[in-house]
Amino acid sequence: MEKRKYAGVVVDQTHPSLDKLFHYGIPDNLAKHIQLGVRVQVPFGHRNLQGYILSLDEEPDVSMEKIRPIKKVLDPSPALVPSAIPLIYWMRNEYHCMFIEAIRCFIPPGLRLNIGEKTQKIVVLEEVDYIDEWIRAVERYSPGMAAILRTLEQNESMPYNELLDRTGASESSIQSLLKRGYIRIEVEETYRDPWPVNLTPTRPPEFTREQAAASQVIGKCIRQQKGKVLLRGVTGSGKTEIYMKAAEDALSRGRQVIVLVPEISLTPQTVSRFKGRFGDQVAILHSRLSLGERYDEWRRIRRNDVQIVVGARSAVFAPLERLGLVIIDEAHEDSYKSEVRPRYHTRDVAAKRCELDGAVLVLGSATPSLEDYDKAIKGEYQLVEIDTRIDNQAMPQVEIIDMRRELAMGNRSMISNELYRGLKHILSHGEQAILLINRRGYAHFVSCRSCGHVIKCRNCDVSLTYHIRDLALKCHYCGYREGYPKVCPVCGSKYIKHFGSGTQRIEEELCNLFPFARLLRMDMDTTGRKGAHYRILDAFHRQEYDILLGTQMVAKGLDFPNVTLVGVLAADSALYLPDYRSSEKTFQLITQVAGRAGRGSKSGRVIVQSYQPEHYALQYASNHDYKGFFHREVQIRRQFGYPPYSHIIRVLVTGEEEKKLKQFSETMVEWLGKRIADDRLLKEGLLDVGAYPAPIEKIKNKYRWQVLIRVQTDKLYRMAYHRLSEELNREFYSDNLNIALDFNPLSLV
Ligand code: ADP
Ligand code: ZN
Ligand code: ZN
Repeated sequence: MEKRKYAGVVVDQTHPSLDKLFHYGIPDNLAKHIQLGVRVQVPFGHRNLQGYILSLDEEPDVSMEKIRPIKKVLDPSPALVPSAIPLIYWMRNEYHCMFIEAIRCFIPPGLRLNIGEKTQKIVVLEEVDYIDEWIRAVERYSPGMAAILRTLEQNESMPYNELLDRTGASESSIQSLLKRGYIRIEVEETYRDPWPVNLTPTRPPEFTREQAAASQVIGKCIRQQKGKVLLRGVTGSGKTEIYMKAAEDALSRGRQVIVLVPEISLTPQTVSRFKGRFGDQVAILHSRLSLGERYDEWRRIRRNDVQIVVGARSAVFAPLERLGLVIIDEAHEDSYKSEVRPRYHTRDVAAKRCELDGAVLVLGSATPSLEDYDKAIKGEYQLVEIDTRIDNQAMPQVEIIDMRRELAMGNRSMISNELYRGLKHILSHGEQAILLINRRGYAHFVSCRSCGHVIKCRNCDVSLTYHIRDLALKCHYCGYREGYPKVCPVCGSKYIKHFGSGTQRIEEELCNLFPFARLLRMDMDTTGRKGAHYRILDAFHRQEYDILLGTQMVAKGLDFPNVTLVGVLAADSALYLPDYRSSEKTFQLITQVAGRAGRGSKSGRVIVQSYQPEHYALQYASNHDYKGFFHREVQIRRQFGYPPYSHIIRVLVTGEEEKKLKQFSETMVEWLGKRIADDRLLKEGLLDVGAYPAPIEKIKNKYRWQVLIRVQTDKLYRMAYHRLSEELNREFYSDNLNIALDFNPLSLV
């Protein structure tokens, strides 16, 4: 067979001019190590650079004299698994990123930085006959040597230091035994264990009918090695057990599994359940691990020492070679979208990877995103729905409290009378409560505390954003602006303002109301340190506290049997966000948080405080009516042309000189205008284009402007959208302005 003589290498440099494959020669002495995905060192100009082989070709792409040879092969086996390579090409096209940006998703920083392995010395007993007699013989002149042999007889091998500790013997005893050939020393790599919690093994429960039916659908897909399943199951319907059964199915067919969770520190229980069921077969991968821990887990995976990888979004790139199943838990969460280049959506990368690997994708959620449910209805995913909880446990009762009425009755505090009574009740019955303060969108919108009116744009169905700098309210979809109102335009009340209230203030208020309650606060301030989430939740779980007060963090995946009351303060604050997804986010939040109450044998109660209790997002959430919400919301999205009925391209420009940003954005819009005029497809598909200051105009002394482009989502226009994105990327690359192109961003602030 003719040997491939040239390797196409992507060098590890992020510059657009280097974003291509460079051909290198393959020296004979390296030939047997050269294959796709191998990390190499190559000469580049006067330097040596790291790079990755993405192609092997027979013909060079430049003249022979210019071809230089690969210098070194850096790893014993390819750093990139086979399916990574087509996935890298796909990401580059889909997210308009550079090759190397996509490649780096697959490579732990520890490998690129060559931090190396951590090793330890192990003492091993040689295979010898009559060991007891030897020990007796040795004992007479060296008790230390005898102790070592006896310990090793029981354990076969032991780390060097531990052996000295246990026996109290000296290093010279070990040296003597070595010389006599009783023992040998081996060097073994150690792994930094990122989840050093001992867990008691669990067994699968007897499945309910719904669980069995869901498992059958997924099991069939696994046998056929393809398929995408959307599992919508109310909180407490036993989804995690279904995931674990699916994992078992995949493992039994010799396939490996990736389980994705929104954020490891917020979902320790899911991780623990997988570890508990599958033990050492599970690796944990996420970006908060130390460099060393991450590198070690990656190597364990790369060597096929583990079968299941549990992790946050970056785990979708885990180097498994026999992937058969990807599970995305709480698939509606925003953290699955990357906010740095490449700005990928984990669900889409997972779907592509599953196609390439012959694997099955399972998306699970109590509140699937509108886009996902829409796809399921259109047949892109198989839809499995469970509307009952395990043991037919009742869904918690959700009561909506009208805070306007509280104000009218003279209660100006953040805690309604009903919530006050509820808290008093749980405190006197030894039960627990979770209070969630919804901070999303705080202080950005203006609303009336008397009638609940929210100031909105007259052209768009979004709330106006308060801009502190010029005391104005602005719409960042269309640029409309107006002055700050003195009184409510609807009811004339002077209680109209943008307001915010932090967890600390509420903590103080609770302290005054219930001086003897044991309060636990969980927010950005209390969870800074590593492992803080886990410790807080664990203490609450052990019932060392009565009330857990927190931000969105407390809404996710927690399972506390003693929690019988959940309160949501300012449930509607997300509704005022100038964001097309604000209703959806509110619906999701209330549904999720309601699922936290009454998980045990006691029934649960949920109290939702709101200034606009009649809003459909709150109404549908309180009735646990996902489908009702979906149909209502999808209509609105269609009417206003928001996703899933449009693709959004967002170009965010940041820099120190605002004038330049404005100029740049306007030039871009002008360019777009010309570009669109020349292109029939674009002209037809385009919904609108515009340049505005971003809702948050300045961050860390840098101004922010954005150009928003919305294109219809039909197949035809998808091509146009991609072409335009690519051209934009090329045309407006700049070193001194910071430009971020995002495709279908989840948030526009
Ligand atoms: P979800 O992930 O949908 O919120 P879980 O898988 O956490 O649901 O299940 C809720 C609770 O019910 C958990 O405590 C779980 O251990 C338990 N459970 C799940 N399936 C069963 C079953 N078939 N029989 C008994 N208990 C179950
Ligand atoms: Zn507007
Ligand atoms: Zn009013």
